[in-house]
Amino acid sequence: MMDAQGLAEVDILIRNGVVVTVDPKRTVLYDGAVAVSDGRIVAVGPTADVAGRYRGKKTLDARHRAVMPGLVDTHHHFLQNFLKGSRDDLALADWIDQVSAPRIVLAVQDYLNGDYELEYQATRLGCVEALRSGITCILNMEWATHPIVIDAYEEAGIRAVHTLTLTDYDQWKRPGMILPMDKALPLAEQLIARCRASQGGRVAFRYGLACPNSCTSHLFREVRALATHNRVGIHVHIAETRFEWDNIHNLYGKTPVRYLHDIGLLGPDVLGAHCIWLSDEDIRILKETGTSVAHNPECNMKVADGIARVADMVAAGVVVSLGTDSCAVNDNMDMFEAMRVAAFLQKVSQMNPAVVPADEVLAMATIGGARALNMEHEIGSLEVGKKADIILVDLTQPHIRPINNVVNNLVYAASAARDVETVIVDGRLVVENHRLLTLDEEAVLAQAEAYAFARFERAGLAVPPYHRIQKSLEKTQTERMP
Ligand SMILES: [Zn+2]
Repeated sequence: MMDAQGLAEVDILIRNGVVVTVDPKRTVLYDGAVAVSDGRIVAVGPTADVAGRYRGKKTLDARHRAVMPGLVDTHHHFLQNFLKGSRDDLALADWIDQVSAPRIVLAVQDYLNGDYELEYQATRLGCVEALRSGITCILNMEWATHPIVIDAYEEAGIRAVHTLTLTDYDQWKRPGMILPMDKALPLAEQLIARCRASQGGRVAFRYGLACPNSCTSHLFREVRALATHNRVGIHVHIAETRFEWDNIHNLYGKTPVRYLHDIGLLGPDVLGAHCIWLSDEDIRILKETGTSVAHNPECNMKVADGIARVADMVAAGVVVSLGTDSCAVNDNMDMFEAMRVAAFLQKVSQMNPAVVPADEVLAMATIGGARALNMEHEIGSLEVGKKADIILVDLTQPHIRPINNVVNNLVYAASAARDVETVIVDGRLVVENHRLLTLDEEAVLAQAEAYAFARFERAGLAVPPYHRIQKSLEKTQTERMP
């Protein structure tokens, strides 16, 4: 529709920003504009050009703001966000045994008892932090989730790849942790149907396979066949720890990657999380099969899993994306920090400051994530025709100034919590001026925390003093109000 000045009306016109497109030419427009209509990008270019053709029903003045693709976080577990700061400084095996496993048991048992609240609350909590951190698309790998959790993604307005973790071997010897296959596989079917019916198709489904230590070769083959048949992807932890490598090597005389390849699991619809303990041959296998990688640098550092060979994988042509893993081993969803740490880790481990430069790690967090999820034709860059998943990042705060090279400044100086100001998903404004528009942020946080800690307490799990004491003060104050 044209107005009197001959301008076509669009839903949102973003103008006067520093547009970091992450397109194939890595175009940066220092006075750029983006026009959005019906959920898609209809124009990207100099403000003088785009604003000369379009008028927005809503106009965002992006002066001193970076306008960039929404961040794509390709590995996370929302349930574990309740454990932020709860037990640190443990090796992964001890952490899973003492901290994570009891909560997973609780989630699985609640699911079997028809109680879906814990995972629902975890999903709402996770969506709030993700969106406020500029993550427009997240892969969330969970245990025993009823399709009601898909409602939580829709209510928040985030794009998500919901992944149901399947496991048929209890390496942790923890009764109740495994959702039996006769329950899990029908649940996967329900989730596939629910995701296909999601609003705007914004939630996709993947089969999750815990890891080679917790899945039999039979399960790997069965899920491979199901994924091909149902045309959905697979997400699996691969070569995350030395003990996984040792165990698979002892059992089969091969590396975890070689083992999964020989089973026939790997392929372009498979995204491997971590992929730390890799040989040169393993990297070749990932490249040749088109298997993608979700690199989680902060988690890998915190639980001392090792350093993934990211620079070598990128050089070999493997698609590498970035994840924040769970907030219990990270401990936030700051993809800017993940970019920075990923770059630093490669530089110091290779003793070469030139490896993994800022533009490469920015690509990992955007178009790389889109490729890893087979969504590169729809998201991951600001290009005409793509879905409008866009964030505006404040460039005015002292910690990011002066701007000498906007990409370098974003990667090495930006902070998600402080600087992500506006978030658009699928052409819909979901965060504006740091405020979540889709949900009452404070209410979601309060409800989720209150529910989870009461549930943990009922299950006999430790509740930290903060929740016992500060939260009771809150209650007292509320009660005293006239
Ligand atoms: Zn994980």
